[in-house]
Amino acid sequence: MKKHVYLFGQGINEGNASQIDILGGKGANLAEMSSLNIPVPPGFTITTPVCNTFFKQKSINKTIKKNIVQSLKTVETTMSKGFGDIKNPLLLSVRSGAKISMPGMMETVLNIGLTSKTIPALIEKTKNPRFVYDSYRRLIMMYSDVVMEKAEQKNHIQIRAKLENILDKYKKKHRVINDYELTSQELQHLIKRFKNEIKKHFKIEFPDSCKEQLWGAIEAVFKSWNGKRAFQYRNIEKIPHDWGTAVNVQTMVFGNLGKTSATGVAFTRNPSNGDNNIYGEWLKNAQGEDVVAGIRTPNPINESSKTTRTKNSQTLQKNWPNIYKKLIKIKNTLEKHYKDMQDVEFTIESEKLWMLQTRKGKRTGEAAIKIGIEMNDEKLITQKEVIDRIISKNIDEIMHPKVDPELEKINTPIESGLPASPGGACGQIVFTASEAEEWHKKNKQVLLVRHETSPEDVQGMHVSQGIITAKGGMTSHAALVARGWGKACIVGCSNLNIDLKHKTVTINNITYKEGAWFTINSTEGFIYDQKLNLVKSNFFKNKYFLKLMSLTNKFKRLKIRANADNPKDASLSKKLGSQGIGLCRTEHMFFDKKRIRSVQKMILSKLSVDRKNAIMELLPYQKNDFYKILKEISPNPVTIRLLDPPLHEFLPSQKNTELIHSLAKNMKISSKEIKNRIIDLFEINPMLGHRGCRLAVSFPEITEMQVEAIFTACGKLINNGINPNPEIMIPLVSTVGEFEHQKMVVKKIAKKLNKKLKIQLKYKLGTMIELPRACLIADKIAERADFISFGTNDLTQTTFGFSRDDIGSFIQDYFDNNILTEDPFKTIDQEGVGQLVKIAAKKAKKSKPNIKIGICGEHGGDPKSIYFFNNIKLNYVSCSPYRIPIAYLAAAKASFRV
Ligand code: PEP
Ligand code: MG
Repeated sequence: MKKHVYLFGQGINEGNASQIDILGGKGANLAEMSSLNIPVPPGFTITTPVCNTFFKQKSINKTIKKNIVQSLKTVETTMSKGFGDIKNPLLLSVRSGAKISMPGMMETVLNIGLTSKTIPALIEKTKNPRFVYDSYRRLIMMYSDVVMEKAEQKNHIQIRAKLENILDKYKKKHRVINDYELTSQELQHLIKRFKNEIKKHFKIEFPDSCKEQLWGAIEAVFKSWNGKRAFQYRNIEKIPHDWGTAVNVQTMVFGNLGKTSATGVAFTRNPSNGDNNIYGEWLKNAQGEDVVAGIRTPNPINESSKTTRTKNSQTLQKNWPNIYKKLIKIKNTLEKHYKDMQDVEFTIESEKLWMLQTRKGKRTGEAAIKIGIEMNDEKLITQKEVIDRIISKNIDEIMHPKVDPELEKINTPIESGLPASPGGACGQIVFTASEAEEWHKKNKQVLLVRHETSPEDVQGMHVSQGIITAKGGMTSHAALVARGWGKACIVGCSNLNIDLKHKTVTINNITYKEGAWFTINSTEGFIYDQKLNLVKSNFFKNKYFLKLMSLTNKFKRLKIRANADNPKDASLSKKLGSQGIGLCRTEHMFFDKKRIRSVQKMILSKLSVDRKNAIMELLPYQKNDFYKILKEISPNPVTIRLLDPPLHEFLPSQKNTELIHSLAKNMKISSKEIKNRIIDLFEINPMLGHRGCRLAVSFPEITEMQVEAIFTACGKLINNGINPNPEIMIPLVSTVGEFEHQKMVVKKIAKKLNKKLKIQLKYKLGTMIELPRACLIADKIAERADFISFGTNDLTQTTFGFSRDDIGSFIQDYFDNNILTEDPFKTIDQEGVGQLVKIAAKKAKKSKPNIKIGICGEHGGDPKSIYFFNNIKLNYVSCSPYRIPIAYLAAAKASFRV
């Protein structure tokens, strides 16, 4: 029979970390920690398959219920306490625990087992009535919200807000600022009011039976798997909906038992910058929710966790050095065992340390890279593991923008907060997650400003450039979620006064309306009330990043080239490690105002002589650019693609009379003639029109000019002692004839120029394969070409028949209807387009085994696509300069993940 309930704690560990699928992250790690002799309050985990069965059967079946009751008995025996016992009562927590951490998205109920019968016993035992009533009011607040409201789908009641409101009013009336200042008597009054309020709305009494509380909580936690926010989060994070959550039922330990108790959260290394120091927060006389919810501002656990705002706060290290030492010992045990940075929760009950949770800690890109490299230095993980562990998002993140430091020097922040997730962001402020979504839909850039965020806000947080919250600490919801996404975020800005009704925020007596521009520097925690420029981060100086790049280089097989069309990008790409240029789109060199005129003249010329003149105007520009690009990249190869201008990108609009006049004047013909020519040249389908080699077949003088430019540039380089390595690429070939035609033109000019310039330039001549027909005749093309490069953008366009410029208007419908799960213009469609690439590569190699084959479409910088290209044994991928580090990483991973 399948096991459904696994015990853990105090020497009993029925599960282990490898059972994460059925025990969830929390349950599996509780079992693992307890097997490492780390003190874990005893309990048991109900498995994820039970969750799925629960959804099918709408209840927990009898056998499983029996198992749960038996397991509870074991826990009672271990703890020498009884659940519902009127002398020595055991209290329980019930928590969710999915396979992957979904911070705050599901439910937890604490202090289960407090009833009119057990309360007096606990008071007798603890001699602390205040603590008992405080625990009871927490149970009431959580239980009514999670079990009575959310699980029963009575969300309109909003009981939590109503009870909070009663609490706030009560505190005001009794001139109490903090919850912990409420006396036992006052808490009892509050509890009465809470219960009345609950009865008023739910028409039933708050349950006074331990068992009812326990079953209610277990079922509610299962149901929270399908709650709205958990569902939305899974959609964003692409977590399958059928995993289900496990439920952990565990002995309660109390951080709020008085001055000798505390609660805390910590990362075993700094999650922002990766420093190898435990980093965290703690609060005396509090329960975990107080730290996470940001209700009270927590204290730093040690010196290195201090910020400017908490520099005078008391640390755990100073306050309880012995407990701190134990925590450090546990950090070392955990890191040695898990070989990764952990995020832990702990409780100190009457000066005894208990670990409540450990999981892989979320971290910024900067921290991920540093931790990986340092753990390899510490011999905890291998080089391959470092590479395997870093994800492309980490690299993306360290390449994130930050506020221009020059502008920061001359602007004063209006406020500061905790730097929860580094970077910089700029946007118009909005105060609710739904507004963030609305504004985002209108293509506006927003910064979400909230009192604090809750998991209900995830969608709005996701579409915002950055997040600012008035409350919360480094481990608050906003901080965790933003860090996970690599989004700029500042929390705990206590001077923010948000008025939701009037949609304003007042900061130090200045009121800002919704829509005002703010900029944040979330590395430092500064807020500016202006729109400041952001600049890219200087990751070039990050020694851990550079080390990571050299590691990836050691393992990767694929060569990584860059798509670059100008000397500046060429130089940047070289700095980023490109091993050549895989695509230089020559038409991109003509986007400059002056140059585009010449291209327009070339296109609009009717007479060959006029066209030639226009083309020759382009020659000096081309020569100069080729010279600089080749100089930068030599001796590495530069693939220069001959002109491929879809006409619509270059033709002037018929309505642009000013331009038409100036062109007419320049070309010495009438404006009317120009207009007529524009009408003549108009194409319904320019992407399938007179572009690529088709244009050069009609006007070989274009190819002639370009080859002349390449050769003259190379001649000059050779004379300067540089060894250029040009690869001339014919675009949009679909027949052998087209290739042969262009090859002849290139060869003729090459021969002429080698002679004229007295050089022996060795160049390669190849073609782009970006049409399905070309894939199917790749063997014939390969016989005639030195290399082939797949233009996967056009190949995707022509294979699917999706216009690459128009798909945006309907692709969402394809996602919504599960017709597509990924944008095929971002990630290669392995089943269709990928198959064509595979077939073509195979055919090409068959006729020329050593032919060089690459990718130069956008897919060349997409990690998933890179795995595929590696697996089908291509030689290189080419991508935009900023994606080179990601391509290195993906290529390295691919080399040992085949
Ligand atoms: C391609 O089609 O993949 C390609 C690289 O060319 P372009 O994007 O310039 O059409
Ligand atoms: Mg193309």
